[in-house]
Amino acid sequence: MRVILAAPRGFCAGVNMAIEALELAIEAYGTPLYVYHEIVHNKWVVASFRKRGVVFVSSLAEVPEEDHLLYSAHGVSPEIRRQAAQRRLRTVDATCPLVTKVHHEAIQFAREGYSIILIGHAGHDEVVGTMGEAAGRIHLVQSFDDSNHVQVEDTDRIAYLTQTTLSMDDAEVIVERLRQRFPTIVGPSKDDICFATQNRQEAVKVLSALADLVLVVGSGNSSNSLRLAELARTCGVRAKLIDGPDDVDLAWFSGVDTVVITAGASAPEDVVQGCVELLCREFAAEVETQAVSTRHERVSFRLPPELKEP
Ligand code: SF4
Repeated sequence: MRVILAAPRGFCAGVNMAIEALELAIEAYGTPLYVYHEIVHNKWVVASFRKRGVVFVSSLAEVPEEDHLLYSAHGVSPEIRRQAAQRRLRTVDATCPLVTKVHHEAIQFAREGYSIILIGHAGHDEVVGTMGEAAGRIHLVQSFDDSNHVQVEDTDRIAYLTQTTLSMDDAEVIVERLRQRFPTIVGPSKDDICFATQNRQEAVKVLSALADLVLVVGSGNSSNSLRLAELARTCGVRAKLIDGPDDVDLAWFSGVDTVVITAGASAPEDVVQGCVELLCREFAAEVETQAVSTRHERVSFRLPPELKEP
């Protein structure tokens, strides 16, 4: 068996920044330390911080007044910021700057009187946050079918935005349909689907041509991981989304010569290596790193300013 490790894969700049921010906050403020929702959408990352005394909350009522609270990489809505201020919480904002960029675009378009169509998935933390920035002006489109039916107040002044972790191909088809229906629609000056999502999808597209099976390491609530598995299937390859080696069923590999392994932007590399070790042990697999990395990522984001002078 040949195992090809996709590149780039795993942690992105936003996830690295959010995890480092949480590490520094634990050092500076001690535990229990509160985080609004999961710091990143990965079961291992969340479990390891939970063990160290981090408390992930879904309501600010769970946080004692004046205590410290971190906002996760996916960002929060203004309503959460308002509640935090009301409870005099000392907040650290670990929102990925590329999510914040989409929030700013929503605010700007709303200020200029646009009706906004947000392409994204209902209930995802990032979508909830972005919709909250321009409440009453944003219409959510989740699918091509939605793009056929969405209605806006003013069809002459209409803008679209996208969630950062969408499938590039799905989003393109939806945007094209919106352009047909609303010829004056405007979009963000620079793509909202982030570089990390695009690069991981590009690598899977290239490597699917070589694979009999694609393993995507990532959690079921990780949007970009789900999209990688979907993309491989669209390319005609069987794909499995796994949290780690324990989810692997050896029966999947019957008749399989080449396995491609990739990882969503919030999946730790040691879990990826655990999966590789399993395949080496069970099938004497030979491991190759993708011969030509589709992209080199040299992006890093600054830590939240609150942590620079703890
Ligand atoms: S996937 Fe993209 S938007 Fe999300 S944290 Fe990573 S860099 Fe930021």
